[in-house]
Amino acid sequence: MNRVYNFSAGPACLPEEVLREAQEEMLDYKGCGMSVMEMSHRSKVFEEIIHEAEQDLRDLMGIPDHYKVLFLQGGASQQFAMIPMNLMKNRVADYIVTGQWAKKAWQEAQKYGKANKIASSEDRTFSYIPDCQDLPISEDADYVYICENNTIYGTKFKTLPNTKGKTLVADVSSCFLSEPVDVEKYGLIYGGVQKNIGPAGMVIVIIREDLIREDVLPGTPTMLTYKTHADAKSLYNTPNCYCIYMCGKVFKWLKRNGGLAAMKEKNEKKAAILYDFLDSSSLFHGTVEKKDRSLMNVPFVTGDKELDAKFVKEAEEAGFVNLKGHRSVGGMRASIYNAMPIEGVEALVAFMKKFEEENQPC
Ligand SMILES: *Cc1c(COP(=O)(O)O)cnc(C)c1O
Repeated sequence: MNRVYNFSAGPACLPEEVLREAQEEMLDYKGCGMSVMEMSHRSKVFEEIIHEAEQDLRDLMGIPDHYKVLFLQGGASQQFAMIPMNLMKNRVADYIVTGQWAKKAWQEAQKYGKANKIASSEDRTFSYIPDCQDLPISEDADYVYICENNTIYGTKFKTLPNTKGKTLVADVSSCFLSEPVDVEKYGLIYGGVQKNIGPAGMVIVIIREDLIREDVLPGTPTMLTYKTHADAKSLYNTPNCYCIYMCGKVFKWLKRNGGLAAMKEKNEKKAAILYDFLDSSSLFHGTVEKKDRSLMNVPFVTGDKELDAKFVKEAEEAGFVNLKGHRSVGGMRASIYNAMPIEGVEALVAFMKKFEEENQPC
């Protein structure tokens, strides 16, 4: 067996310890004679799995009792529609567009009401986070929407926008559980789990109870109504059972390793190794404004497309995979989520140094 260092933006690497546990339990989960993949979602055993997963997530994030935790299907992208369908009471919402994912959410919301783009960083290829302390928030906005960590561009909101009292909705797909969070600052937090938590195919929604309503937009399908899933504790229909089980294992791994405060410290350490090198390198450089740098997704370039391609190819041969930047921006991107060990980042930087020496401009 030869495991590589996987810098994919998602689906992404998972803690090896967790994969091994799942392997051990594959054929016989805790003496019940079957795999979690084979069991009824209504069984006692599975009920315990989903209940514990929710409780562990609540412990990790300090989620208050007046927030519901939902394990839903359709990925993060389905939330682009589900949010306006459920929350657009006045049919008005304000969007801060800091990347492709926020832009998609903003475009989707336009199907349901007036979705205002109140700030954007598209003028400079989404390489920064705009100042959001005094934005023209709409008087009747049902919510203000952000994508907190921009996976493709590698920027992150270091301070949340001033929503002037309006409900904040955040897509945290690529920074979920990467650091402590004050849940009460948000009305709704959601993220696809395949970036920083588990396998693909599920989204976790953390929603304040007063936002779970019956009077959703006309025509909203039962399956796309938060109330359906909140009332049924995410078991209205068959959920993504195996994914919930794997996420639960990652939550326990996070708890064993000191929780989100410890994760933040480790993530800052990892990111600093890479950013410090980028700032001193004669060949590679980062592409976003320093103050807005993400701890999770680190894009960089050499400035020469051919050299970028050569780097990606040689890195792959050396066991550093999925370093190619998103197809919309090019260059390279190292995603260094919770499960990426410090040694992985150190080894990558050592490889980059070697590449730099071998590829000096003549
Ligand atoms: C990956 C990603 C998405 C899309 O996730 P899907 O689960 O594929 O729909 C949305 N938002 C952000 C910030 C992402 O990183």
